[in-house]
Amino acid sequence: MQDDFELPGVPDAFQRLWTPHRLAYVKGGQEQVTGPHNCPFCEAPGRSDAESLIVHRGALAYVVLNLFPYNPGHLLVCPYRHVPDYTDLTAEETAEFAALSQQAMRVLRAVANPSGFNLGMNQGATGGAGIASHLHQHIVPRWGGDGNFLPIIAGTKAITQTLGEVREQVAGAWDATGRTRQP
Ligand SMILES: [Zn+2]
Repeated sequence: MQDDFELPGVPDAFQRLWTPHRLAYVKGGQEQVTGPHNCPFCEAPGRSDAESLIVHRGALAYVVLNLFPYNPGHLLVCPYRHVPDYTDLTAEETAEFAALSQQAMRVLRAVANPSGFNLGMNQGATGGAGIASHLHQHIVPRWGGDGNFLPIIAGTKAITQTLGEVREQVAGAWDATGRTRQP
């Protein structure tokens, strides 16, 4: 993986991984989340990073690969607390949530050189949130022409075979990038 990453003519690793013949699509179907006991964003930190696709654990929030990515490297920043709304965050949580969002962009730039990003929070089911009861910020790297590869039905497909590889790359870059950025 790392050797291929250095080859010329490969614009970025994530794009190369986005090869449909290697992908195992799974049916999504978000179960109705009724509380922290059956909330995937509450349960994820209780499992290993590899199992949950977590790339970084902060003090008040964590960063995880989206199981249903719009693009390879699609990250989610989640508070540990099961709260639905951005205004529910404390000042401390808000600060870390923002810092992790910035760091996620830096890491994705370092690893995969996207030409743009989409960041955002869908608030409430009406706002398009798949899991409305647990706040999460989407960080979606964008490349020119990636629209050709967008899933037709967003949120219902997963790239199970490549997610583990992407997680390892992002998590490794996170630690390396963090060391140079933080005192
Ligand atoms: Zn939750």
